[in-house]
Amino acid sequence: MAENNDSRSLDFIREIVARDLASGKHGGRVATRFPPEPNGYLHIGHAKAICLNFAIASENEGGTCNLRFDDTNPAKEEVEYVDSIQEDVRWLGFDWEDRLYYASDYFQRLYDFAEELIRKGNAYVCSLSAEEMREYRGTLTEPGRNSPDRDRQVEESLDLFRRMRAGEFEEGRYTLRAKIDMAAPNVTMRDPAIYRIKKAHHHRTGDDWCIYPMYDFTHCLSDSIEGITHSLCTLEFEARRPLYDWVLDHLDVPCHPQQIEFARLNLSYTVLSKRKLLTLVSEGRVSGWDDPRMPTLSGMRRRGFTPQAIRTFCERIGVAKRDSVVSVAQLEHAVREDLNLRSPRVMGVLNPLKVVIENYPDGQVEWLEAVNNPEDESAGSRKVPFSRELYIEQEDFREDPPKKFYRLTVGREVRLRYAYLVTCTRVIKDNQGNVIEIRCTYDPDTKGGTAPDGRKVKSTMHWVSADHAVDAEIRLYDRLFNRENPNQVDEAGHDFHDNLNPESLEVLTGCKLEPSLAESRPGQRVQFERRGYFCEDIKDSSDGCLVFNRTVPLRDTWARIETAGKQHG
Ligand code: ATP
Ligand code: MG
Repeated sequence: MAENNDSRSLDFIREIVARDLASGKHGGRVATRFPPEPNGYLHIGHAKAICLNFAIASENEGGTCNLRFDDTNPAKEEVEYVDSIQEDVRWLGFDWEDRLYYASDYFQRLYDFAEELIRKGNAYVCSLSAEEMREYRGTLTEPGRNSPDRDRQVEESLDLFRRMRAGEFEEGRYTLRAKIDMAAPNVTMRDPAIYRIKKAHHHRTGDDWCIYPMYDFTHCLSDSIEGITHSLCTLEFEARRPLYDWVLDHLDVPCHPQQIEFARLNLSYTVLSKRKLLTLVSEGRVSGWDDPRMPTLSGMRRRGFTPQAIRTFCERIGVAKRDSVVSVAQLEHAVREDLNLRSPRVMGVLNPLKVVIENYPDGQVEWLEAVNNPEDESAGSRKVPFSRELYIEQEDFREDPPKKFYRLTVGREVRLRYAYLVTCTRVIKDNQGNVIEIRCTYDPDTKGGTAPDGRKVKSTMHWVSADHAVDAEIRLYDRLFNRENPNQVDEAGHDFHDNLNPESLEVLTGCKLEPSLAESRPGQRVQFERRGYFCEDIKDSSDGCLVFNRTVPLRDTWARIETAGKQHG
């Protein structure tokens, strides 16, 4: 049966969804949600959750995916985050249509549910302090003890809860707790707090509330209110699923969604925790949440990653039940693959060395045909100017060439891309003996780069006409951390701060670009031939002051890892 063939290739979540659809559970609907807490910017780990939730909705007819802000912690949340999260989800290519929700919109309904729990004898107001509560909770091996308030009369709890809401008590004086089982082997079930007093201003509800619901109470009820069918979350919530179900089972709710846990994404050489990323920002270790070295979606966007590449990456890593670390090289591989297809090729010299073609007529300029993208014929071609004075890369010339150095040296002929064969005749040095300029001759019969007599050269180099060159600043990025797992803490107390790569940013100024790039187009992505993929900075670049970020170099370490794997396997 075709159905069976399909399901064999499905991951475990899609299998559950397919089974539920077949059995008519959840009324034959599929409704998912992405529920970020607006306390930081989204990172590549969130992208995995976003892609998963929106994909599962769109793969099923009538499926929907909500964007819901899980905004129950007024102290850490900000409007800036709410805005950036929406921008990032949209940029990734997903559309929640008219389904934008806030847990804070449900505060009154959640409050009513809490009263219902109290009335049913399933919740009580407790006066233990935070510290006492920890003491009473017990440990993994020892059961907890009942709070002295556990058997408080319903009427009394109701009265206290209403007075909590009215603002009569200071923070920490009381909590509302679910009455479950202090001896439960699962610590989560030992009468968890579901409401606490917090006299904080909320970015949406202002000062309307001075009590706020806890995550475990809010999340399942928000899911139910929205008619979610499959509530996907990461593995650390597995132990809290019984509480998710308990709350829904003890209240009169619209529906009972199924919580399903999957492994979170971990990436090598990266930290994926909003808390840690926030420290990097607030301590000034990076220029902001959108620093192109950050694993945030805004950082990746600024660096030049495409949403398509990130989606492809998320599809390829799939979903599983077991934690693992994905190589950042795999992400870069997806980026490179996508950029290879879509990036126009241009010539840019990062570390310029002046070249004078001595036999080229002074003042003459030829506009030579250059292919925009060999991977894409429809991209066409452009003209680049060639003249007597050019720039090439410093590293493309060696006065004393080592073995296997096939680029320019005195007496050798090489090809200038799209132009001519040139031969280096001599070098010009400054007082300290550094080469500051080289002299060449060109062969006028080799226009386009081939010799009529069929003689070969071993290298082809990019170049830019000096008179026509546009100056630019180029920022070269490397990994932000120099350890595969920057989260590791050692005995000496070193943490992720100590694993920052001091060479993660190199700024080059006075770079020379071909004139087709003269006009600033922030966000444009190009390949500088032989150098890598670059993206014009969306913040700092402008006409006359161009700034390009290196997205990824051309060399693909992941492709080599894969080929090596194939050879061995
Ligand atoms: P962080 O650990 O970075 O603070 P979080 O889980 O606290 O992340 P939320 O805003 O609560 O951040 O996350 C929203 C959704 O994204 C949740 O469903 C969460 O499970 C998911 N998510 C967060 N980090 C990852 C990750 N690394 N891989 C996959 N999903 C993730
Ligand atoms: Mg969270």
